[in-house]
Amino acid sequence: MTESSATPELRTIDTEAGTIGNVAGPVVKGINMRGCRMYDVVQVSDERLIGEIIELDGDKATIQVYEETDGVTPGGPIYLTNLPLSVELGPGLIGKIYDGIQRPLPNIKEVTGDFIGRGVHVSPIEHDAKWKFTPLAMVGDKISGGDFLGEVPETTVVMHKIMTPPDVEGEVTWIAPAGEYTLEESIAKVKLVDGTERELTMAQKWPVRRGRPFKKKFDPEKPLITGQRILDTFFPIAKGGTAAIPGGFGTGKTITQHQLAKWCDAEIIVYVGCGERGNEMTEVLQEFPELLDPRTGQPLMNRTILIANTSNMPVAAREASVYTGITLAEYYRDMGYNVALMADSTSRWAEAMREISGRLEEMPGEEGYPAYLASRLADFYERAGFVDTIHSDDEQRDGSISVIGAVSPPGGDFSEPVTQNTLRIVKVFWALDADLADRRHFPSINWLRSYSLYLDQMVPWWSQEVSGEWPKLRERAMVLLQKEAELQEIVQLVGPDALPPKEQVDLEGARVIRENFLQQNAFHKVDTYCPPKKQVMMLNIMLDYYDMIQGAASKGVSVERIKSLKCREPIGRMATASNEKFQSLFTKLHKEMREEVRDLTGGGA
Ligand code: ADP
Repeated sequence: MTESSATPELRTIDTEAGTIGNVAGPVVKGINMRGCRMYDVVQVSDERLIGEIIELDGDKATIQVYEETDGVTPGGPIYLTNLPLSVELGPGLIGKIYDGIQRPLPNIKEVTGDFIGRGVHVSPIEHDAKWKFTPLAMVGDKISGGDFLGEVPETTVVMHKIMTPPDVEGEVTWIAPAGEYTLEESIAKVKLVDGTERELTMAQKWPVRRGRPFKKKFDPEKPLITGQRILDTFFPIAKGGTAAIPGGFGTGKTITQHQLAKWCDAEIIVYVGCGERGNEMTEVLQEFPELLDPRTGQPLMNRTILIANTSNMPVAAREASVYTGITLAEYYRDMGYNVALMADSTSRWAEAMREISGRLEEMPGEEGYPAYLASRLADFYERAGFVDTIHSDDEQRDGSISVIGAVSPPGGDFSEPVTQNTLRIVKVFWALDADLADRRHFPSINWLRSYSLYLDQMVPWWSQEVSGEWPKLRERAMVLLQKEAELQEIVQLVGPDALPPKEQVDLEGARVIRENFLQQNAFHKVDTYCPPKKQVMMLNIMLDYYDMIQGAASKGVSVERIKSLKCREPIGRMATASNEKFQSLFTKLHKEMREEVRDLTGGGA
């Protein structure tokens, strides 16, 4: 099928197939459209604006146009491509900034300025650039979709596997020797099972609305480690998992996404941005290319692809950008990589669906969103997963796509349809909270409203790789934080001093976890990333502190004296203790803390 899915941009189409009937914003009605199919790409007017057929009724077609339609008038021509909306895949994707239909945005100035001209058809990856190819297949090899033919160092950190397209099966009759090749040149010849020969280049195509095939999808078992304590320890996302993060303005959505992009242990990052306000996306486009990969010190763009929709782009392109992004992610997953895709914000995409649906005069569902909102969102998130990728041998080749979708509920109201429908699909919910942000508690993820359905699945990994204590510590900390929330209600009425000492100590224990574990400073050179082992040790010391002061209080030690303990200060500094030397530091701190509290109770604690 890849043969028939050339990107529309690359083909010159001369056959006029229909006529523009009327134009309503991004929606164009075509008449006399014979021989076209649903989701075929068409070119509208003499400017050849890219559009997709989203409704067919006899020879009348409804077309969603991915470029501004100002000046497009009835009576103009519509050209057929007979191809679905597809992306081009091959070396050269990494580091690019694309618009929704995979047109490269050459530099930030053009993005923030006038943007790409209409009807501009550019190749997504450079066809004349030379890539250093090393063959991995040999003549005589029996190959099928996903098998590695060779590899190309795409950037200093990404080795790009040149894969057999999913629909190809046969025997290698020729493979290019190691050397430099362009995407136009053949790198292999394959005798297909039907006896014909096919030449393969380093590029292939794939229709964006169809998920790329895999052998098997597994229940995720490993966490996507982010180095962010509240995420890893309290609300973990799995490799191949799905998470939603609602992002009201100023709640720390951008910083959280940057932290994830920088620190999560995925090799490839795909960032799909749909901005509403003019400067929202501009900021991302300016900031992302400047981010450094903390592990290599190199630009993060060396393993990132950005897909951008600024506010001056037509809304219909948002939908295309989401599909483009996930297809690019699948392509790198197929190479055996862990890919993290961030979609920011899916609400903008849902709003685009609402607008298009309104123009189609469809029966509106909740709050005007179309009835298919839920299924579209589900189709998208379902393309996440931990899979055995396609290839011919029996050995398992793992790849994963983790999807983190930001949601922007108007007024922070999580009962609105996009948030609700997203929550039905995703397994992790990180609830950003404007009150916490106002109090400068960062990351401002509300620990009482957030959840992760991967918790149980992550226990074996944490037990094996980090510590068997993880689930117990996490559970205890959570109980204490819930207790704090209950007590807070009383405190607000009568003040903390009216509480019995035991409960005042509960508050002190919860405070330590809240201030020193849940809070994490993205801008501090050490605190920005907290290794899993350090997370467990910190929580262990904090809970031991809590147990010991509770013991002291039960023996009559006053809360005042407990609050004057010297160890409170070094406990507060654990987060910024060296990530290399924390084990010895913490062991010492733990011992000193125990001694100090013991002294408080006359040695009997
Ligand atoms: P949003 O994208 O939701 O509008 P930002 O991500 O830009 O919000 O965050 C707003 C501000 O909050 C940041 O400029 C920063 O000062 C602060 N902030 C957010 N997250 C953190 C964090 N993890 N550590 C420190 N400061 C943070």
